[in-house]
Amino acid sequence: MNKKCNFCGNANLKKTTTQYTYPHNGKYLMVENVPCEQCEYCREQYFQAKVLKSIENEFEQIYLYGKIVTTEIKIPIEKYREIAQ
Ligand SMILES: [Zn+2]
Repeated sequence: MNKKCNFCGNANLKKTTTQYTYPHNGKYLMVENVPCEQCEYCREQYFQAKVLKSIENEFEQIYLYGKIVTTEIKIPIEKYREIAQ
C-alpha cells in the first residue's frame, strides 16, 4: 500500500473501512465496509487493487449476470440549473 499520501505528502495513513460507490456507464454499485487506508490530514482514501477488482467483479455479477442483491435504494436525480435559487 501507499506509504505516503499522494495528495498532501502526509505519512500518517490509517487502516479503516468506508462506503464505496462504483459508477460505471450510468449504473452504480454501493459497497459498505470496504477496507482502505485514509490520510489522517486530507482524508484521501487509498484502496488495494484487489479490493477494487472485487467490487468491479460484483458489479458485473449484478448487472451482467443478474445476481440478486438484498438491498437497493432509489436515488433522486436533479439538474443543478433547475434547483439553483
Ligand atoms: Zn493527504
